[in-house]
Amino acid sequence: MKKILFLLIVISFSQLKAQDTYLHCGKIVDTKNGTVLLNKTIVVSGNKIKSISDGFLKAGRKDVTVDLKDKTVLPGLIDLHVHIESETNPRSFVAKYTDNEADIAFQSTVYAKRTLMAGFTTVRDLGGTGVNIALRKAIDAGKVDGPRIFTAGKIISSTGGHGDPTNGGKAELLGDPGPKDGVVNSPEDGRKAVRQRYKDGADVIKITATGGVLSVAKNGSNSQFTIEEIQSIVSTANDYGMLTAAHAHGDEGMKRAVKAGIKTIEHGTFMSDETMELMKKHKSYMVPTISAGKYVAEKAKIDGFYPDIIVPKALEVGPQLQGTFARAYKKGVPIAFGTDAGVFPHGINGREFGYMVEAGMPAIEAIQSATVTNAELLSSADELGQLKEGFFADIVAVNDDPTKNVKTLENVVFVMKNGKVYKNE
Ligand SMILES: [Zn+2]
Repeated sequence: MKKILFLLIVISFSQLKAQDTYLHCGKIVDTKNGTVLLNKTIVVSGNKIKSISDGFLKAGRKDVTVDLKDKTVLPGLIDLHVHIESETNPRSFVAKYTDNEADIAFQSTVYAKRTLMAGFTTVRDLGGTGVNIALRKAIDAGKVDGPRIFTAGKIISSTGGHGDPTNGGKAELLGDPGPKDGVVNSPEDGRKAVRQRYKDGADVIKITATGGVLSVAKNGSNSQFTIEEIQSIVSTANDYGMLTAAHAHGDEGMKRAVKAGIKTIEHGTFMSDETMELMKKHKSYMVPTISAGKYVAEKAKIDGFYPDIIVPKALEVGPQLQGTFARAYKKGVPIAFGTDAGVFPHGINGREFGYMVEAGMPAIEAIQSATVTNAELLSSADELGQLKEGFFADIVAVNDDPTKNVKTLENVVFVMKNGKVYKNE
């Protein structure tokens, strides 16, 4: 009797043992050391990487084996600049007056899934209507398929600035938005806007330090904050442990943002040598968004795609980004991978790698910028950005060795996030 009881206990324990997944990987990219390793088995248990071993280990009877012997396996990619709620098209300039939050919510699930399927298992969302916060919650709860999201909620801007949500509307729709909606005009307003975002559930802070291309406003690069305003925003964000990002095209606004302690400069279009040195000194990162620059420059040539006021800005700013990135990289400015997806269709984020390599960055460094570097900026260096024991099982695979053929990253064939397989072609 005792023996049977013991046997039953053993059987029930073995049934309790979670099913593990064995990934047989022909090549894996060691993003920490910048090398490619051959023939490894990654064992995934639950949502974590349990072990990485040499050769191809035989799985247990209940476990699952995935054959990636002719693939190259990488940690899930991280895009530090997307707008997950929306996608620009000729209609999007009236959408803010016609679409309800529910409309935005449904469309955002489509973009989130497309982003995940492209191999981007984590994104930093740099601004939307606030639906982005609800989307993050729904993804974390497993109700919607999408990447891990670190979101800014609503952008912080100044009156008439690049992120003023009422730009370009007719008079009775304009209103006078304040810190709650992300429009600030003093250091006090800035402090309040950051605290409001913290209360709303945002993870990071985004300001628009200068004018921008796709806002219905004349100037794409003028400075739109005083340094005191930015300092107040940064010091409050630091109190709450929120990473800070500044959209910036013009050099003066960028300089103020760097001096005030903003951690990532988005676009950086007209960055002077002096500002590059300043960024190195302050350890602020450039997020190049070359993909967005190329896309707006191309679409601006199509009559009616953008409102007239946007066209000259798109034609001026767009083509500059890749060249500025090339200069910044050469000078040693810290680089973080980010695309501005949403300005162009979600899911083609991987093209950015090719643009970076074209501009002089070795492929392995571009991959590191989208993995280890971005994980560190998101304060997740011990759980994201590497294939390593104890890290989240965010794992992707491509057909070729991306350090030799970077364009293979545009076609991710296997996606696992948090231990769950979403794609296996
Ligand atoms: Zn953006």
